[in-house]
Amino acid sequence: MPKAVLYARVSSKEQEREGYSIPAQVELLREYALRHDIEIAKEFTDVETAKQSGRTGFNEMLKLLKKNKAINIILVEKTDRLYRNLPDYTTLAEYPVDMHFVKEGTVISPNSHSSEKFVHWIKVGMAKQYIDNLSEEVRKGLKQKAEQGFCTGKPPYGYIKRDKKYSILDPEKAPFIKRAFEIYSYGDKSLTKTVELLYEQGFIYKSNQHKITKGQLEHLLKNPFYYGMIKFKEHLFRGVHEPLVSKELFDKVQIAFKKDNKPQYVNKHDFAFAGMLTCEECGCTITAELKKGRYIYYHCTGGKGECEQKSKYIPQDKLEEMFDEAAKRVSITTEHRHFWVQGLKESFGNAKEFNQERINSLNQQKERIKERLEKLYIDKLDGKITESFWEEKHNQWNNELDTIIRLLAAHEKTTARAMEEGVRILELLENFYREYSGESPMEKAEMLKIILSNSELKDGILSYSYRRPFNIFAENHACIKKLPGWDSNLQPFG
Ligand SMILES: [Zn+2]
Repeated sequence: MPKAVLYARVSSKEQEREGYSIPAQVELLREYALRHDIEIAKEFTDVETAKQSGRTGFNEMLKLLKKNKAINIILVEKTDRLYRNLPDYTTLAEYPVDMHFVKEGTVISPNSHSSEKFVHWIKVGMAKQYIDNLSEEVRKGLKQKAEQGFCTGKPPYGYIKRDKKYSILDPEKAPFIKRAFEIYSYGDKSLTKTVELLYEQGFIYKSNQHKITKGQLEHLLKNPFYYGMIKFKEHLFRGVHEPLVSKELFDKVQIAFKKDNKPQYVNKHDFAFAGMLTCEECGCTITAELKKGRYIYYHCTGGKGECEQKSKYIPQDKLEEMFDEAAKRVSITTEHRHFWVQGLKESFGNAKEFNQERINSLNQQKERIKERLEKLYIDKLDGKITESFWEEKHNQWNNELDTIIRLLAAHEKTTARAMEEGVRILELLENFYREYSGESPMEKAEMLKIILSNSELKDGILSYSYRRPFNIFAENHACIKKLPGWDSNLQPFG
């Protein structure tokens, strides 16, 4: 007899609602196990409260699965009972177990078809979270905010965010920024000199630092926010905040920069790929450095002792090229999207057939109860049963009927929603590389963080792994590439 663990989870908030109790889940799963001749080796439950994350049961279950290889099934009510976040899902995907999602009627096993895994991944619901980071909707939302004149991020130095949208002048810091504009606008003083003058006048930039650096100052003096604008991508919108300087003064400063004709100072924040890379040899963070005022080089910090990679510098351009390659691998063409959507539809078609059995059986149950209720009513009219017996049975069967109707509705909804999610991921990937390639290294890094994890550098070579479900696309990239039109012999789902 196959052995299983049972897992049930509920949050204290859910517990207040009907149908979300631990006993209800446990009962359902026990009954399922009985019907399918599955032995339950152990039961694990988690109750979350506002204070406790409530993952003790989940972790204990993982421990047992690791120890006892004879247990190769997890019984759980629904996808959202098992995972709460992407790490959960990733962790469990490493275990060689079959997962039975009893209410959803799906079983996911390590040798499931990759299309099934993709579908399952979508159900996990994480797709939404990831897509939202990148989706047009978010971008549109930000753009809209900018168009309306609201600051989309943290306001620049000299301003304070009063609430979610409005920025107001910081009475302590703002005068110094204004002074900086004035000093530099004459065009007869270098940035270095401007920095010195400001310092003499008492300007202390951020509490842990004495003087503002040239780079930081240049960054501030070029920010159109100070004359009342909001910059979004390459567009400028009129802000709702009070300008610190006039447009004339701002323009004078920009002319002064041109006169200066100095190299542009790169801000530390412009080291796009630092922070998302580690050294493959020693595990240290990869840091970046500016050479000759404009060239960015990456190398190991060597913070864990001696490391050969510490002296191996790699220019940002080279790194960017390698990252571009990674982004390219998950991209699909319109034609490929059609092909994959087709695969999704087929896979959902099967799921629907599977569901159909359950839907049919539920419908039969529904009819049976309706008949019983009718008969009960006649018995009552005929005086064959007492009023209280009628009431008791009437309530019981009506409750059962309600449950069945709710289950039927849930089946329909789940399939439709999951399918939508899948299509959205495919649409995202269709446009991914095109959008990516037009971005600055900074924006590229943000997009890369969505698809990649564990990026490492060694001897100037970049290595990385893809996050799920993007790994499915990257792994299939070679065969997707070869896809000659609509050749039905090809199996892009591998
Ligand atoms: Zn190293």
